[in-house]
Amino acid sequence: MNTFRALRILNEQVVNCGRCPRLVAWREEVARVKRSAFRAEDYWGKPITGFGDPKARVLIVGLAPAAHGGNRTGRVFTGDRSGDFLYAALHRAGFANQPTSVHKRDGLRLTDCYITACVRCAPPANKPAPEERDNCLPFVAAELRLLPNVRVIVCLGSFAWDGVLRVLDSMGFAHRPRPRFGHGAEATVGPYVLLGCYHPSQQNTFTGRLTEAMLDAVLSRARELMS
Ligand code: SF4
Repeated sequence: MNTFRALRILNEQVVNCGRCPRLVAWREEVARVKRSAFRAEDYWGKPITGFGDPKARVLIVGLAPAAHGGNRTGRVFTGDRSGDFLYAALHRAGFANQPTSVHKRDGLRLTDCYITACVRCAPPANKPAPEERDNCLPFVAAELRLLPNVRVIVCLGSFAWDGVLRVLDSMGFAHRPRPRFGHGAEATVGPYVLLGCYHPSQQNTFTGRLTEAMLDAVLSRARELMS
């Protein structure tokens, strides 16, 4: 089976998943009530899949979709400030054909880059429970198995760093001592190099904890390592 077809089948499983009752109830409630600015829109209200180039050498992993971002638009990091910051950087780094990510049919294409999240349903207060994380991480493992060219994994935030280490552990790539997360942290685990990067949340980007230059440096390092 080719990668495109295998990813499509996996993505169908993701979209139809209802393993976490709390998150199913929350994502659907948010989609029903909506934010007033988006009242006229139909929210997605389902799990979000990974997105990008099946031949990617760089995998970017986030935490979970935002209630009125990915949970509204149906695409990872699309329709919120975090996505604006991330995709602008991906465009500067040559991984994205455009700097904006507004909705699913906006023409965005990624080259050599695939984006996913540890948890696929928007969680209340952006905080999934440990069992919800554990329910969902096998989808990242499945993606890694279907993306044979991935060499570099950029982890956006400590939650993603920890989640990716758990995934790699489950795939037999244990690493002791366990590498610590930090912005710019680097760790080789099995065939992958993990890169740590602060999450492009508004909290980080508005306060200057994560600047454009800092994110550009991580993506530049990812490009160096992927070849
Ligand atoms: S968070 Fe993941 S495992 Fe839980 S219901 Fe959503 S898609 Fe399924």
